[in-house]
Amino acid sequence: MTQSYVAEPYKIKVVEPIAVTTRQQREQYLKEAGYNTFLLRSEHCTIDLLTDSGTTAMSDNQWAGMMLGDEAYAGSRNFTHLQQTVRQYYGFRHVVPTHQGRGAENLLSQLCIEPGDFVPGNMYFTTTRAHQELNGGTFVDIIIDEAHDSQAEHPFKGNVELAKLERLIAEVGAERIAYVCVAVTVNLAGGQPVSMANLRAVKELCGRHGIAVMFDATRCVENAYFIKEREVGFADKSIADILREMMSYADGCTMSGKKDCLVNIGGFLCMNDDELYQRASELVVLYEGMPSYGGLAGRDMEAMARGIVESVDYNYIHHRVSQCRFLADRLTEAGVPIVKPVGGHAVFLDARTFLEHLSQDEYPAQTLAAQLYLEAGVRSMERGIVSAGRNKETGDHHRPKLELVRLTIPRRVYTYAHLEAVAQACSALYRRRQEIRGLKMVYEPKLLRFFTARFEPLG
Ligand SMILES: *Cc1c(COP(=O)(O)O)cnc(C)c1O
Repeated sequence: MTQSYVAEPYKIKVVEPIAVTTRQQREQYLKEAGYNTFLLRSEHCTIDLLTDSGTTAMSDNQWAGMMLGDEAYAGSRNFTHLQQTVRQYYGFRHVVPTHQGRGAENLLSQLCIEPGDFVPGNMYFTTTRAHQELNGGTFVDIIIDEAHDSQAEHPFKGNVELAKLERLIAEVGAERIAYVCVAVTVNLAGGQPVSMANLRAVKELCGRHGIAVMFDATRCVENAYFIKEREVGFADKSIADILREMMSYADGCTMSGKKDCLVNIGGFLCMNDDELYQRASELVVLYEGMPSYGGLAGRDMEAMARGIVESVDYNYIHHRVSQCRFLADRLTEAGVPIVKPVGGHAVFLDARTFLEHLSQDEYPAQTLAAQLYLEAGVRSMERGIVSAGRNKETGDHHRPKLELVRLTIPRRVYTYAHLEAVAQACSALYRRRQEIRGLKMVYEPKLLRFFTARFEPLG
């Protein structure tokens, strides 16, 4: 039975009506969108679980901060506030704001990767790897094997396999490794956390070889929550203290503020190294703007600074993870296959098992996402062969072991009743899964194809 049902630690002050559509309308909308949920219009979605990125409901305190935007071109007081807040909660010496996470990834990749370099990481992320490859780097997966098995129960399934990293260092040499990128948590593995012990060990190993460690800190607060819950010695520590310790094992980080900083737009790049900061300050001018605004309005930086403080409130993060667990429990009760254990931002349907009569070339996860929209107007996201893209050398599809559909829970937006409706739609589809046919891709863009690819149903 459902274990935890943590009531919302907020009440509703403003409401936004959502679409109620007929199946006939949804058939039309889906066809127009090329069976790609990214191409659906938001106003045609009843429950939008496409992403938790930038979809957060801001607090009244954040909205109040928006009115205090100092929109000076240089030296905005909101930047000073953001800088102080990041230093306090993340502990890095320098912060460069960017318009969102990938802006920070662009800067970091350009500054630290030479053609021919390797960039090991605990499973790839789409934009992260794209920037690494654009700069001539080669991503190498060093996550533990369990992460690729949707049913393996491991409390820290995002951990780095130290032996894989050591093997790479022995093979190519430490000087060919641009830096080690550790994502906390690992989005594409199902929002799986990394343990404090593992972060410490990675830092120690890299330190011995003179290799920098850069975190993808996008969901670092969720990671801190799991450490508090699961790792011996952390139960009585605050989320803020755990976060600070995590960050002490990195030389810097990229951050998508659209996730754990509780804002609709924003991001930043952090580092301790003065020389790297100097170079980043020069490069950011080219892509984002002055190092004191990096593509953001003063009000956006203010909202992000306030969001960072709210994000480490235990009641907030406890409720967020409980919502994920509620949805997961409902699905499990109905026999629907999901990735286990449940992560911090989403529930991932295991589309390979769900639609086991489809081959990977029939795009099982893409198909399931389309069907879920048709069934109940629920928008989700494919995380399988389409998202994985193609090998840049051979041109073949990357063939990930996991074919997942991500039901991502926006922060502070939906209630348990919405999640119950999602669970019912998934259960109904699961009962008639044998009737579901696959898709074929009819348009494929070169970069990050999942965003704009188009499909048609197979005969
Ligand atoms: C969203 C995300 C990014 C990129 O951030 P944007 O703000 O979308 O540019 C990078 N890494 C992970 C793990 C993410 O989830």
